[in-house]
Amino acid sequence: KAKESGPNECQVYREEWDEASLERLRIQHDLRRALINQEFMLHYQPQYDMHTGAIVGVEALLRWHHPERGMIPPSQFIPIAEDSGIIVQIGQWVLEEACRQNKEWQDAGLLKIPVSVNLSMRQFWQPNFPESVAAVLERFGLEPRYLELEITESMTMDADKLTNSLLRLTDIGIGISIDDFGTGYSSFSYLKHFPIDRLKIDRSFVSDIEDDPDDAEIVAAIIAMAHNLHMQVIAEGVETAQQVHFLKMHLCDEMQGYYGSPPVPSERIAEMLAA
Ligand code: C2E
Ligand code: MG
Ligand code: MG
Ligand code: MG
Repeated sequence: KAKESGPNECQVYREEWDEASLERLRIQHDLRRALINQEFMLHYQPQYDMHTGAIVGVEALLRWHHPERGMIPPSQFIPIAEDSGIIVQIGQWVLEEACRQNKEWQDAGLLKIPVSVNLSMRQFWQPNFPESVAAVLERFGLEPRYLELEITESMTMDADKLTNSLLRLTDIGIGISIDDFGTGYSSFSYLKHFPIDRLKIDRSFVSDIEDDPDDAEIVAAIIAMAHNLHMQVIAEGVETAQQVHFLKMHLCDEMQGYYGSPPVPSERIAEMLAA
C-alpha cells in the first residue's frame, strides 16, 4: 500500500507545482506586454505632518490594470517581476512617471512636495544607477529635493556596495528612506554609516499599537532612535485616531495610512494639493 501511494502523492505534488509555475510564467509573459501596452499606472498616497496635518509628500504606488484579469495588486506581480529581472524596466517607468507627474503638479502651481518611489534592489545594482536617476530629473526638470527613494532593509545587507550608491544619490540632493523599517534583517550599524533621511515604521507595528504593549514599545523606541540619529520618522499604515494619538504623544514626525487617505489617482492628489 505504501508503495502504491508513493507515485500518486508525487503526482499530486507535481501538478500543484506545475499550476503555480504556470501562473508565474503567465504573469511574467503578461508583464512584458504590460509595459508596451501601457497597462501600468501610478496611484499616490499622501503623507501628512503629524502635528499640522499638512500634506508633506506622496508615495507613488504601482497599479497594473490587466486587460483580462482587472487590477492585480503589487504583491502578486512585483516578486515575479523581480525574479525575472523585468522590474528594472518597470521601475524605470515608475521613476520617470512619478517625476513627470510631480513636475506637472508644480507647473500647475500646486503645493511643492517630494514624491517617494519604491526601489527594487535590482535597480540599485544597475551600473551608474545614481547618474541615471539624475538624468531622469534633468529630463523632466524636477529638482532633486522633490524626489525620495525608498529602499528596504534587506537591500542594505550588502553594506559596502550600497554606501557608495547612496552617497552619490544624496550628493545629487535626492532623499533616501528605509521602507518597512523593523521587518528586515536589521543591522543598526548601517543607520550610522548610511546617509538616510527618514525611517518608515512598518505597518505591522503600527497596527498593533493599541493591543500589543510590545509593539507600542518598539514604535516609541524607533521614533526616539531615529531622532537621536537625526533622521525623520514616518508611521505607515495608520488607520485609527488612537494610533494618531499615540504617535503624536511620542513625537512621530509624519504619518501615512488609510486614516489620512488611501492611495488615489493623480487627479485626486491635485485636488488635495490645491485645497
Ligand atoms: P510599501 O512600499 O510598504 O507601500 C505601502 C503599502 O501599504 C501599499 O500597498 C499601500 O496601499 C498600503 N497601505 C497604505 N496605508 C495602509 C493602511 O492604512 N492599511 C493597510 N492595510 N494598508 C495600507 P500596495 O500599493 O499594495 O503596495 C504593496 C507593496 O508593493 C509596497 O509596499 C511596495 O513594497 C511594493 N510596491 C508598490 N509599488 C512599487 C513600485 O513601483 N516598485 C517596487 N519595487 N515596489 C513597489
Ligand atoms: Mg514604500
Ligand atoms: Mg512600507
Ligand atoms: Mg513593502
